Amino acid sequence: MYQIPVLLPQAVGCFDYLSAEKLSVGTMVQVPFGKQIKTGVVWDSPIQKDLDQNKLKEIISVLDIQLPLQSVAFTNWVAGYTCSPLGAVLKMGFLKNPEKKSRKPSIFQQVQLADSELSFSPAQKQAIEVLTQKTTRGFSVSLLDGVTGSGKTEVYFEMLFALLKQKKQVLVLLPEISLTTDWLLRFEKRFGVKPAVWHSSVTEKSRRDTWQAVLENRAQVVVGARSALFLPFANLGGIVVDEEHDSSFKQEEGVLYNARDMAVVRAKLANSPVVLASATPSLESYVHALDGKYTSLKLPSRVSNALYPDVFLVDMKQEKKSHGFLSAPLIQAMAENLSAHQQTLLFLNRRGYAPLKICQKCGAKLMCPHCSVALVEHKDKLQCHHCGYTRKIPDVCPQCGERGTLISWGVGIDRVAEEVSHLFPQARLCVVDSQTSSDYKKFEQILEQIQSGQIDILIGTQVLAKGHNFMNLTLIGVVDADMGLSGIDLRAAERTYQLLHQVMGRAGRGVLKGRAYIQTYQPENHILQALQKSARDDFLTIESQSRQLLSLPPFGQMASLIVKGKNQLQTLKKAQEIVAKAPLSDDFEVWGPTPAPLSFLRGSYRFRILVKKKGKTGLQNTLNRWLKGILIPSNISLKIDIDPYNFL
Ligand code: ADP
Ligand code: ZN
Repeated sequence: MYQIPVLLPQAVGCFDYLSAEKLSVGTMVQVPFGKQIKTGVVWDSPIQKDLDQNKLKEIISVLDIQLPLQSVAFTNWVAGYTCSPLGAVLKMGFLKNPEKKSRKPSIFQQVQLADSELSFSPAQKQAIEVLTQKTTRGFSVSLLDGVTGSGKTEVYFEMLFALLKQKKQVLVLLPEISLTTDWLLRFEKRFGVKPAVWHSSVTEKSRRDTWQAVLENRAQVVVGARSALFLPFANLGGIVVDEEHDSSFKQEEGVLYNARDMAVVRAKLANSPVVLASATPSLESYVHALDGKYTSLKLPSRVSNALYPDVFLVDMKQEKKSHGFLSAPLIQAMAENLSAHQQTLLFLNRRGYAPLKICQKCGAKLMCPHCSVALVEHKDKLQCHHCGYTRKIPDVCPQCGERGTLISWGVGIDRVAEEVSHLFPQARLCVVDSQTSSDYKKFEQILEQIQSGQIDILIGTQVLAKGHNFMNLTLIGVVDADMGLSGIDLRAAERTYQLLHQVMGRAGRGVLKGRAYIQTYQPENHILQALQKSARDDFLTIESQSRQLLSLPPFGQMASLIVKGKNQLQTLKKAQEIVAKAPLSDDFEVWGPTPAPLSFLRGSYRFRILVKKKGKTGLQNTLNRWLKGILIPSNISLKIDIDPYNFL
């Protein structure tokens, strides 16, 4: 009998089983697990030597499915990098019963390869030439950097074209929100077939069909959100990560990984090129392109003659208070736009009516009972945006018992809509937030209405900032630009810049030059100044210098440890113990424990420890050595977040 390590798709490592025949790594098998039968994969982990073979169970059956070795290697790599259990990583790209076949499996048609009909600009031509060459030269990373509408998509389509001609599989990763019908239709127009689509809301059947077709090399193109990276590609030839800077590529639950970074690793394992595309590259990618680690490809201007809008910073300190939330210059511009029958977008990244309900008499804020955050006021209810708790809006203050003293504090998009409907009762408004956009059908309808001119004023959160083309939109109002300027996390400035830049990109996509009014109390702020002057690289240079000075990513490595538990004192003590056992060295810094900004979430107390390491490697080793000897009781959890994006 052979002793064989088998990995199951659940948050643990391998278990050893017995088999009469030798089995190769990647073979799928069914094994007894407790009282159940589970499907797992023969793994390349070392067997456990000290086990008594008589106590091991036998593999029940060997399936006729083989996970590619690259998938095995990728799983190992991601687990090591993110300090996650192997099985948790395997689970991300696993089907429930991989051996089952759909009764009527979807057919993945072969792409039709015809040359593009466009005549490319010189910059596009050059980028296409470089990328096409890279399709035959093994692993490489390229940063395709160009403003929205500069023709990046058409450029990477040409690389896909070259790869498809070589009969290789390709993967395009997009933020889920950009994965619209528009995009898919465009793909279909270029390649004559629909790509296989993979994201959180595809049906179980379609997941099964796609997974099997990818494994059997029948699906040539997959377009998906971050988890598509874990599909078992049999013959992967290249990856594109569009909107590479987007923070939705960072998964914040379960295995904490950044799909953009892991895409680079996946491409390396496939010895293939990867393209990162963005109008506002992440600082990491920008620095690597400057260093020459990534090939830098630039598309300097928009294809059409549309221009970056004229940006005006409105100093809210100079505005008379009586106006509500919109400044006089913005209101004036909106009025002009309305009479010219052009569309306006008001941007505010805050859902709901008001971020706070507060008692005017005693000062009490209405808080979530399960989290250390205020409840957000919506039209007919109060809601916690972290755990989903909702309650009716009370008539009396729960603290002092006074009637009618609770007032709305601050502004959310619904309150902006209220102000706009008072100012312009004749205008046709539409409010869009993540609730609206999560309903694909409804969101498509709204986009359609906007395109066909049935909406005059759009009011929305960041879901409107990305990707969508609104031809008749010529005015942008940023209601509160200060929201992101004083953020606590290391990427607050970068993200604010990216987000506002994208919002600016919504204007003037047609023939008319757009205008943008940015309302702020800090018009001198360097982010806003860079936005106004359209001086992105100046901003990135300042940002990169300050990160370098502090050895922050990408110049150093960082991790956040969150210690969480229901018992506050016990949780704190565990966090203190962890810090007390931290290794001491000059290139390793440990801060904390401190209560996390969300110190109480869904009924648990949370303490945070931040870890910073100089240099570009070795963080995981240090963490593993450090944490190995520390016992975490079952009522406490320790979450390790390598290169954290979320500092809450
Ligand atoms: P990006 O991905 O940078 O936002 P796109 O590739 O989507 O830019 O290009 C913007 C628009 O311009 C699209 O409608 C695209 O089809 C069109 N386009 C791109 N390149 C050309 C070209 N060389 N000639 C004509 N139209 C082009
Ligand atoms: Zn809550």
